[in-house]
Amino acid sequence: MSRISPRQQRSAFLVRPGQIEVRETPVPRPGPGQVLLRIECALAGGTDRKAYVRGHPQIPMPGPFGHRYAGVVEELGDDAPPLEIGQPVMGVHSAPCLVCPLCRKQRQHLCPDVMREKVLGAFGQYLCIPAPVARQNLFPRPSSLSAEQAALLEPLACVVHGLEQLDWRGVDRVLVLGLGSMGLLFAYLLPRYTQAALFGAGRRPERHMLARRFGLHTLDQLDGEQFDVVIECTGKLDGWQQAFDCTAPGGQVQFFGGLPRDAVFPADSFRVHYEEVRILGSFHFSPADVVKARAFLLQGDLRCNDLITARLPLDRLSEGLERLNAGEGLQYAIDPWR
Ligand SMILES: [Zn+2]
Repeated sequence: MSRISPRQQRSAFLVRPGQIEVRETPVPRPGPGQVLLRIECALAGGTDRKAYVRGHPQIPMPGPFGHRYAGVVEELGDDAPPLEIGQPVMGVHSAPCLVCPLCRKQRQHLCPDVMREKVLGAFGQYLCIPAPVARQNLFPRPSSLSAEQAALLEPLACVVHGLEQLDWRGVDRVLVLGLGSMGLLFAYLLPRYTQAALFGAGRRPERHMLARRFGLHTLDQLDGEQFDVVIECTGKLDGWQQAFDCTAPGGQVQFFGGLPRDAVFPADSFRVHYEEVRILGSFHFSPADVVKARAFLLQGDLRCNDLITARLPLDRLSEGLERLNAGEGLQYAIDPWR
């Protein structure tokens, strides 16, 4: 069953680095397998900031912008998943192909086609979800979960993926290095995975108080400290080095924050061989991680208001991104109807 949608919408386009335009565009009609959403809220966070400041390989310019969303079903394409019109939903922005060699080895997060039909355009009033994403990674949202909380599904799925990869046997001390949104989401989920003592460190003193609210013991300096697991969330080369240096013998360091394509990380071979420091990367998520992240969100105890700095209308998206770039705030919730 479908109903007639309004023909025009307001939607933000990233035109070039540093320039966003809010344009009147036609509301898309959902094709086969697709789901058209009426957006309630989209989040502007670290990836959007990077794209806005210097461009991003996965976000073509000029083009629609925004990939973390929550909304309600407006219209269903033929053979779309069995959702109801008006149903609140939550989802992520990508889906693996399920047939390539990596997908068949349960490494869907590394699928080369995972971004082939991705969601872009969440900073707008309506958003058409591609068929593979609608089929695998779009879910009903209970009314108990706010749109802002639900829009955190994608970053939380990345964090679940990182936590699922770690070996939790014999872990007494964990350090989260870097206290931005991702570091705080790790702090939120770590107690589900380990009873170890949880520590946090980061450059910004104002984040330490926030990290303590998320249950981390914060450290002002790391000299001489060692940890069985270090989760690196700075996305900076010196952060990687610091994380590696404070990983205990037999411990694991997880590089969660990606570096630019040409960055080279030099690791001390003595520590890797004789001290068996295990180096792990963590990228993206699989559909199973999304399902787990959704179940955690439905528990309803995530301190959403601490993670979302302000709610802004669509016309002030640039301001939110500029504020992120100045180090002010963690995530901005964009309301396309204000
Ligand atoms: Zn694949």
